[in-house]
Amino acid sequence: MPHVVTQSCCADASCVLACPVNCIHPAPGEPGFAEAEMVFIDPGSCVDCGACVTACPVGAIKPHTKLTAAEEPFLALNGEYFVAEPHADRTPLALVPPQRRLTSRAPVRVAIVGAGPAGLYAADELLKHPEVSVDVFDRLPTPHGLARHGVAPDHQTTRQVADLFTAIADQPGFTYRLGVEVGRDISFADLSERYHGVIVAVGASADKRLGIEGEDLPGSTSATDVVGWYNGHPDHRIAPDLDCERVVVVGNGNVALDVARILTTDPDMLAGTDIDLDALAALDSSRVREVVVLGRRGPAQAAFTTPELIGLAALDDVDVLVEDGGVAIESTTTATKVLAELASRRPRPGRRRIVLRFCAQPERILGPDRVTGLEVRRTRLVTVDGAVTAEPTGETEVIEAGLVLRSVGYRGRPLPDLPFDEARGIVPNQSGRVRPGLYVTGWIKRGPTGFIGTNKTCAAETVAQLLDDLDAGEIRSVGAFATPPRRKRAFVRR
Ligand code: NAP
Repeated sequence: MPHVVTQSCCADASCVLACPVNCIHPAPGEPGFAEAEMVFIDPGSCVDCGACVTACPVGAIKPHTKLTAAEEPFLALNGEYFVAEPHADRTPLALVPPQRRLTSRAPVRVAIVGAGPAGLYAADELLKHPEVSVDVFDRLPTPHGLARHGVAPDHQTTRQVADLFTAIADQPGFTYRLGVEVGRDISFADLSERYHGVIVAVGASADKRLGIEGEDLPGSTSATDVVGWYNGHPDHRIAPDLDCERVVVVGNGNVALDVARILTTDPDMLAGTDIDLDALAALDSSRVREVVVLGRRGPAQAAFTTPELIGLAALDDVDVLVEDGGVAIESTTTATKVLAELASRRPRPGRRRIVLRFCAQPERILGPDRVTGLEVRRTRLVTVDGAVTAEPTGETEVIEAGLVLRSVGYRGRPLPDLPFDEARGIVPNQSGRVRPGLYVTGWIKRGPTGFIGTNKTCAAETVAQLLDDLDAGEIRSVGAFATPPRRKRAFVRR
């Protein structure tokens, strides 16, 4: 009767530390942890104690007897991991690393810029040290960053992570300074004068562009705009035009799946979630019947994760179909098995549908004065040095659509007075250290990859650099503390 990790796993690995028999893997520090889409429970050694359920911040773990029909595939997915990775040499009890202590007991003040998951996990890591206090700045009047404005509203279990962040903020030594934009209301130099350390955790708020003709036509926008819109982000108030039957989303990562799902889900099922009410009203009068999710490579190279694909395939009110683009789907992994099954499905009359289409890359967005379609070029797969890439063929095709959403990844923005790597869209750093006293964590440190919980290990690495610098005397003492400015009245929605 094992417990099972399901779709909303955030990979912060809190469950790994809670498990008394070390049956959850990969664990932080083990091979494969950094790339893992989720963690898995070994059905052979789980003792069913439920400690992991209590530790999980997003309600992702259940006893297998409580799985819904849609969650059943996760039982096999957890077990399959241990067939491939037996972890035979693991110790019977989980190892809890000893708590590090600073060599000096003098008070330390740290400013964290960004109140999203990356910043809050960094605060939690720092507050393990009683000498340390943190001020967490955010330009918005509400905290939690992408956990509030990025997670799809129908992923209510993932949104439970807000409870963890509220618990972090309730600790002694934690202060929010919301509604303050660092770089405008106060400079990074000013922060460095006032605090022993500054940790920048501003994420990657821009989106990558396609660089094709027609990209700036009305009806062509980014998926990140749409995500911000349905989550009520103050910077993304403009509604997409849903007065069309077909939408094309370019790119097939998890953001593309989120947007495709929200645009096709029955609005009645979204009512009662955290969705923005104006967005809900717009979705209620939407004419959209089909969302095509376009991948330039093949089914086996899709960017979405297996847990998200399993969740999509289980949708009842929406048809999820696959057009393989001429590439035979070899059912070698759980993801390709699910895709092969989807490819055999036929549309049911009257249903909205999501079509996962492969081996097609955008060529130009069409329309005289607003979007009428997307010209795509078929691709074939070519393997170079072990990497599978998409090579354009001579064949093109037009997909008629009234809305084209690029979903080809987020990108960091340069910050005033901080170095910036234009190619990678990050602040250049060594394991989170920019220079003694200045650090980065989250997407502005490593680029836009991973899940909410990935930021926990990322923050631990960055904070270790700051503690090393304190212990080595690399950080100078700071002057008397003066409260930084507040731009507008801040409030915290819990
Ligand atoms: P992503 O996973 O990096 O996917 C980007 C997609 O864009 C890929 O399909 C990529 O194709 C495609 N692409 C890039 N450049 C392109 C171009 N010029 N033309 C056509 N296609 C292009 O990005 P994302 O979906 O924005 O997700 C960002 C991160 O957030 C990921 O780590 C994701 O897992 C995470 N996230 C997680 C969840 C969740 O757990 N529920 C939800 C949302 C986001 P190639 O693969 O061929 O490069």
